[in-house]
Amino acid sequence: METLEYFNGEVTILWKPKVCIHSGICVKTLPQVYNPKARPWIRPENATTQEIINQVAMCPSGALSIKEHYGENLQVWC
Ligand code: SF4
Repeated sequence: METLEYFNGEVTILWKPKVCIHSGICVKTLPQVYNPKARPWIRPENATTQEIINQVAMCPSGALSIKEHYGENLQVWC
């Protein structure tokens, strides 16, 4: 399944467009990061890593998840 990645220097937001139900919760919660009219529509550099992690946990469909980078290791959260 197509997964797009948006990196802020610490974490990567993963977004699966076919899973997204367009609830708009991400846009309401962090409008400085999620702007459907902009390209790219996700700009993770506009929030802290903790704000991003908190917001991704609110996505009702699971379209958003976090890929954290610990040195050489990658850990994928859902
Ligand atoms: S919160 Fe999740 S399901 Fe809702 S619009 Fe954002 S990515 Fe899509």
